[in-house]
Formats: sequence, C-alpha cells, structure tokens
Amino acid sequence: MSKLFLIPTPIGNLKDITFRAVEILGSVDLILAEDTRQTRKLLNHYNISTPLQSHHMFNEHKSVESISSKILGGQTIALVSDAGTPGISDPGFLLVRTCLEKEIPVETLPGPTALIPALVNSGLPCDRFCFEGFLPPKKGRNKRIAGLVDETRTMIFYESPFRLVKTLDDLALYFGPDRNASVSRELSKMFEENIRGTLTFLSEYYATKSPKGEIVIIVAGKKD
Ligand code: SAM
Repeated sequence: MSKLFLIPTPIGNLKDITFRAVEILGSVDLILAEDTRQTRKLLNHYNISTPLQSHHMFNEHKSVESISSKILGGQTIALVSDAGTPGISDPGFLLVRTCLEKEIPVETLPGPTALIPALVNSGLPCDRFCFEGFLPPKKGRNKRIAGLVDETRTMIFYESPFRLVKTLDDLALYFGPDRNASVSRELSKMFEENIRGTLTFLSEYYATKSPKGEIVIIVAGKKD
C-alpha cells in the first residue's frame, strides 16, 4: 500500500543513517527534499538514484495537496530534510497533517536529530525535558523566554552561531547567571565541541571565540 515515510538523515557524519533508511530511500517512487543538491550528496554516497523533488518551507503550503494526491494515486513517497528528523524545526508537520486527514498511512523512522545527543551529553537531567526549537529573533522573544522562567524540566534550544552569545545573555537575564547549561556545537562532525558551565561562563567563553557551525543549547530547569 502506498504511504508517506519521514526519514531522518545524518546531522553531520554520513555514517549516521540506519540500514532501513537507506533501503527505503532506495525503494520509494519519489524523495521530497528541502535542498535537492544537499540530499543528492547523501544519495550518491549510498548509490541511490530515486528521483528527487524540492519540498521546503517556501512551497510546502502549496505542494502538500499535490503530494498527497500522488500518494493516493499509488506512489510511495519519502520526505527528508537537509539534516536530522523532518518536522523537527524543519518542514514536515503540514504534510503529515494533510496525509492523516486523507487517511494516508504515515511512518516516521527513528534516527538522527540534534536535540537528543546534545541533551544526553549535557550531563543535565534527561528524564524530563522540553524542546523549544529556535527562539524568535525579535518579536515575541522576551515573552517566550519569560514564559520559561518557572520551567523545571531541562530545556533545549536550537541556535545559530551568530546569535549564540546574545541568547546565552538573554537566558541568563531571565534564569539567573548561575543556571547550569551546556552548548553542543558541530555534533558528529570533525570539530564537535561540548562545553558545560553556567550561562555566564558560556557567554564569556563564546564571546572570545566567535563560534562557527551548528549549535544546540541545553539549560537546566528551575530547581523544584
Ligand atoms: N531537523 C533537524 C533535527 O532533527 O535536529 C533540525 C534542523 S534545524 C533547521 C537546524 C538546527 O539544528 C541548527 O541550527 C542547530 O541548532 C541544530 N543542529 C543541526 N545539526 C547539528 C549539529 N551537527 N550539531 C549541533 N546542532 C545541530
């Protein structure tokens, strides 16, 4: 039966993909990709020649109808993002919702995502946590952080290297300078770095370093 697969892809190291993900990417009728050039590199690495079609945040509202029609017409389609799990700070949700509304089977494979290794590696409690994705850069930013002041679970944020220090400073302002945190940079890549300390320590550390690459910030929850 035709269906939609959501397939996690490596967040850095190309070996971080499951056997089943490779098998499904090689057997579906079509792969929807955020950036087809980026995904082509992965497919070439695994000798996969499945056709690719672009599906990103700028066209997903328009394309979900035609994609779901293709699946209803008998095709099996896989959605991937540039890295990690589709739908996690990446396109995916709209297509899943549309397919489920049309009673199309949806299957998401377990696999790479940046938030889990960053959380587990932080040394902060990972029995209960909340994923906040990217904070808004301007409008609504302070309100979002203020809403987390009483959060007791460990918090996870995605951030760009250009805003890292500002975000650490903003978090310190609301959560206090001594709140424990961890910054994971370039997970699974050659220059992976995990630095742990208070929000103030981390801000000072990165203020002198001009960080590059991809970043996850983990912040301890408020003490009960
Ligand atoms: N779908 C992805 C996932 O499952 O993690 C997230 C995509 S989001 C557009 C990209 C953000 O994820 C980056 O800005 C960074 O915060 C985080 N990220 C992705 N790869 C990473 C890596 N190798 N190391 C650290 N953070 C990473």
